[in-house]
Amino acid sequence: MNKLSKISIRKLADNIAARSTSNGTRLDPDAFYENLWETTRRCIFCSKPSYVFGILDPSGHSDPVLRSGLAKGQARFLFYGLCVKCYQEEDAFERVEDKIADDSLEEANFRAELDAAGATYTKETASDGTDWICISHPGAVA
Ligand SMILES: [Zn+2]
Repeated sequence: MNKLSKISIRKLADNIAARSTSNGTRLDPDAFYENLWETTRRCIFCSKPSYVFGILDPSGHSDPVLRSGLAKGQARFLFYGLCVKCYQEEDAFERVEDKIADDSLEEANFRAELDAAGATYTKETASDGTDWICISHPGAVA
C-alpha cells in the first residue's frame, strides 16, 4: 500500500509503462498515468478522496471474472483507491476483490444488454437534439 499522491501515481505509471505491454503494444505512459489517476483517486467503496492506492493481482484463487480474457502466461493488475475510513476496516482487502469482480460482471452484463439492444456508439446527436440514447433496462428505475 502506498499513500496516494499525483507524484507517486505518476512514478508508478512510468515504471509500469516502461516494463509492460498490453496485448503486445507498449503502454503510453501519459495515457496510462491519466487512467491510473482517474481509477484510484476516489475510494472504490464510497467515492471519497483516496488515501492509499492498492494493486490487486488476481491469483488462481480469485473470482474467474477477474481473469477472463487472459491467455496463459498473461497477468492482469487491477488498481484501486481506498479512503482513510475504508482502509481501516478489517475486511477491506477481501471486499476489494469482491467489489471489483461484481463491478466487472455488472459491466459485462450491461455491455451484453447494449449489444443485444443493438446500441451503437456515435458522435452524432440524436434527432431530438439529445446526446444520449436511452434504452430500457430491466434494472432501471423509470
Ligand atoms: Zn471509502
